[in-house]
Amino acid sequence: MSAGNVLVVLEQQGGKWHRMSWEALAAGAELASKLGVGVDAAVVGKGIAGLAAEAAQKSIGKVYAVDHDLLENYSADGYTAALEQLIRQTQPAFVLFPHTYQVRDFAPKLATRFGRVLVSDVVSAEAGNGSATFVRQLFQGKLNANFAASAGTFASIQAGAFRAESLGAGTAEVVNFAPSIDASAIRIKAEAPFRESSRAVDLTAADIIVSVGRGIKEQDNIPVVEELAEVLGAELAASRPICDAGWLPMERQVGSSGQTVSPKVYIAVGISGAIQHLVGMKGSKAIVAINKDENAPIFEVADYGIVGDLFEVVPALVAEVKKAKVS
Ligand SMILES: Cc1cc2nc3c(=O)[nH]c(=O)nc-3n(C[C@H](O)[C@H](O)[C@H](O)COP(=O)(O)OP(=O)(O)OC[C@H]3O[C@@H](n4cnc5c(N)ncnc54)[C@H](O)[C@@H]3O)c2cc1C
Repeated sequence: MSAGNVLVVLEQQGGKWHRMSWEALAAGAELASKLGVGVDAAVVGKGIAGLAAEAAQKSIGKVYAVDHDLLENYSADGYTAALEQLIRQTQPAFVLFPHTYQVRDFAPKLATRFGRVLVSDVVSAEAGNGSATFVRQLFQGKLNANFAASAGTFASIQAGAFRAESLGAGTAEVVNFAPSIDASAIRIKAEAPFRESSRAVDLTAADIIVSVGRGIKEQDNIPVVEELAEVLGAELAASRPICDAGWLPMERQVGSSGQTVSPKVYIAVGISGAIQHLVGMKGSKAIVAINKDENAPIFEVADYGIVGDLFEVVPALVAEVKKAKVS
């Protein structure tokens, strides 16, 4: 592959965007500017002109609308066949995806069509002279590994690693791309899409989130953080052990197996900052951490840190907020 533009494959399901698409596009734009090339996007499906037009409102070069009847429902075979043709024709410098379940399903297969691997779950990228270095985390985030990648490499972008808002508005050109796909090439029949359990709370819409971790010690102490959430008008969220224990409902879990959130303020109370938690909240605009261990990894992503016992700090904060409201 020659060094063309960076191509970002956006994800939509049933006409709805996967939110991580925009983070991947932001990553693509950043990589492209480091390489001194442009960034293009691709959207795959059937009858996707509207989605392509929407994507074209970002400041990118082109949006490829990869449209075919057999792409109405996702299949690894269909997506691979379609994108292989697009990539052979457009010769992108690098191909990026959001690191979603769907991408994990088909992108390695697509990459091997080009004799490449997929560098997965990338958290940052450097570039120069037509090649890139992708950074991904190992051993639950304890180590960062750099992967030197020549042009033509495929990579998926970790949730929360890039800010979708960094993309400006623009008017990209929409290019219709009609792949030729033989129905016999699609060997998998999709069942009804997996539906996550319905959510009464939409943490992704919250401006402020107070999130509680194992530092709270027992269920009877949950009202301590509940009160902080209440005075701040915040949603209450939690790390996984809290939800696993049934102290708060599963729908309030933040992290790799919970929700990914990016509120204006995320207050992590008694949460250590394991990588599986961080991927769900590190895109927050401001992170406040309250933890009695000054070496807790949460402080590495925190904008404001309070080293202290949450049972002293949180009631003091509640009292201050109440005072500020009165005055
Ligand atoms: C496949 C997989 C998926 C996972 N998915 C998720 C996920 O979606 N979300 C998630 O959160 N985790 C997830 N985990 C679990 C994750 O690895 C961590 O175990 C978990 O995030 C730890 O939760 P915690 O920070 O609440 O608890 P701990 O790691 O036990 O941390 C508790 C923290 O509280 C502090 N503390 C204790 N007492 C006080 C006090 N009195 N005052 C102040 N601070 C105090 C401690 O210093 C410590 O830092 C996943 C793990 C795996 C293997």
